[in-house]
Order: sequence, then C-alpha cells, then structure tokens
Amino acid sequence: MSKLASDSHSSTAAVQATNDDASASKLSCVNKGYMKDSYIHFFVRRPVKRSPIINRGYYARWAALRKLLLQFLKSERHGEDRNIKKQILSLGAGFDTTYFQLQEEGIAPHLYVELDFKEVTSKKAALIDSSQLKDKVGQAASISRERGEVLSDHYKLLPVDLREIQKLDNVIALAELDPCLPTFIIAECVLIYLDPDSSRAIVEWASRTFSTAVFFLYEQIHPDDAFGEQMIRNLESRGCPLLSIHATPTLQAKERLFLDQGWQKAVAWDMLQIYNNSIDTREKRRVERLELFDEFEEWHMMQEHYCVAYAINDAMGLFQYIGFSNDQHVLVPSPQLPQESEAC
Ligand code: SAH
Repeated sequence: MSKLASDSHSSTAAVQATNDDASASKLSCVNKGYMKDSYIHFFVRRPVKRSPIINRGYYARWAALRKLLLQFLKSERHGEDRNIKKQILSLGAGFDTTYFQLQEEGIAPHLYVELDFKEVTSKKAALIDSSQLKDKVGQAASISRERGEVLSDHYKLLPVDLREIQKLDNVIALAELDPCLPTFIIAECVLIYLDPDSSRAIVEWASRTFSTAVFFLYEQIHPDDAFGEQMIRNLESRGCPLLSIHATPTLQAKERLFLDQGWQKAVAWDMLQIYNNSIDTREKRRVERLELFDEFEEWHMMQEHYCVAYAINDAMGLFQYIGFSNDQHVLVPSPQLPQESEAC
C-alpha cells in the first residue's frame, strides 16, 4: 500500500472509531439516568463510565437533536392532513439508535435511512441481526452483513462513502427516499471530518435534492483559541483531524455554509446557548441533580466549542415552528427557492 493510501486508510479507521467512542459515551449517559435509550447497549462491547462533563455534554447534544426532530415530526400545514409521510436521513449514522427510540415511542417516521462506511454498516447489520433489534426492524427485513445492508419497509441501513457524491442519488433511490417528502437530515460529528469540498458538496446535494427539509448539523467550532487548538491537536493525534473546521470556524460560517449552498434559511447556536436557553428548565434541573458537578469553567469552554446549525428548505410550508426558542419561529422568505421544488 502506498504511503498516501495507508495514511488515508488509518485516518478512515480512526474516524470510524469515533463512533465507538460516541456509543460508549451515550451508554454512560443512559446508565447515569440522563436519558432513556433501551438500545445503545447492544452496540457497546465494554461499557465505561464517563466524567460528569462528558455525560452532560452528550445529554445536551441528545436534547438539542430531540427538540428539532420532534418539531419536525409534529409539523403540519395549518388545518391540513395530519398523516403526511415523513423521512429521516442520517449521514454517518454510526451506531446511533434514534430510529429504535422513535419506534418505541410510537413516533417513527414513514422511512428512516442510515448511511455510513461499509465497515460500520456491516458491524451494525450484524449486531441488529444477532439481537432483539432484528424484531424491531421486522421479521421480513433483509439483512446482509456482507453487503452491510438492512432493508425493511420503514428502516434502511446502507453503505456509502459520503465523499462520493455521485453515488448519493443511487443510494437514496435504493433506500426509496422520496425527494418530495419532508425530510430531516442528520449529520452529527460527520461533515467536520471530511475535506471542505466534500462537506460543501453534501450540503449542496441535500439542498438540491430535498425541497422540504431540515438539515441538522452538530459539530465543533472555534479552532483558533487555546481550547480549540488543544481540541484539534487531540483529534489529530488520534488520526482524525477536523478537516473542515477552518472552512467553517464560527457560527456565522456554519450558517453561510448552508446559505451559500442553496438552503433558504440557516441558524447556528453554540451548545452553551442551547443548554442555557433552549433545553427545558425542568429537565435541566433533573439532570443537574444526577451527578456532582464542579467543572463549570471547563463546561462553558467545551460547550462553546460545539454547535448545532440547522438549515431549512420549506417548499411545502411546514416548518414555521422549527427552532430553538420562540423567537426563532419566523421563516425568512427567500426569493431563491431550490429549483427542484418544481419537480415535487
Ligand atoms: N452520527 C453518529 C456517529 C458519529 S461518529 C453519532 O452522532 O453518534 C462519525 C461517523 O461518521 C462514523 O460512524 C464514521 O464512520 C462516519 N463517517 C465519517 N466519514 C464518512 C464518510 N466519508 N462516509 C460515510 N461515513 C462516514
């Protein structure tokens, strides 16, 4: 193997390993009572206890996604059909269990699609195949460890390298995603590991493809202060550099990423803002009693280095109530509707 090929391989393996880290942290959080997830333990071989600051951080990330996701699932046109079909597309889904959680709560969308590298989807397919999760995807599901696929009526897991943009149209056709249906796209800690051209291309492809969609992005920001430099060094030393962080180093740059690639609206908040101003006060009181916590300075710094950006295309006029707080409800009308909206 050439040096370049072996470097890029080791970095791919290291990025895939961040998924194992995320799963272990989620389980740590669940075991401490921060949130309920009856499924994540299927994906963690060796449970670990994370520090209170990591647990609280994962809880905040989960709560932020939940908030927008539930708003999306509830969204409807004023006085119209409540049963409008919805879809969720998770990019670099890893071992995420949101589909199984939503199903348990009886609010799973019509279709939930997860994409990741084949190495990861093969492992996930095998773990689904060999556990109670097999029943959850339905006995009629076709599960192939070799192909890294799960294909069922309402849940699909498929392998793809997201950098190969030209393959994405085929993959969504295979997944039977309908570009005309309202679609929630999740990219949690994924795009930041890709080169900036690939990140931009994915954001552009998503805007061009889905005319009624919410794009949820969770990732790092602020590479340029002491904390940010250390964060970058830590990840680099693990072989997974944040390749896109200098292209989108601020909240404003994250919003621009979406607006420049054709999205109608984009809003970015850092996780400190989200934790302080968007998470339900009673919930916060509950989780703040779970563990002794005195690392306030580090908590503030860490949360300021992660953000959520969401972007909206709203050809169907569904999403006026999507946002972190009540003053985020107004959708700014844009003269530049995505061209594809006419096709739907
Ligand atoms: N979104 C999940 C996992 C985050 S870890 C969560 O929040 O828990 C990042 C994931 O992105 C890994 O599973 C990794 O394999 C995947 N990933 C990174 N680059 C990718 C690419 N080019 N194509 C497909 N998946 C990718």
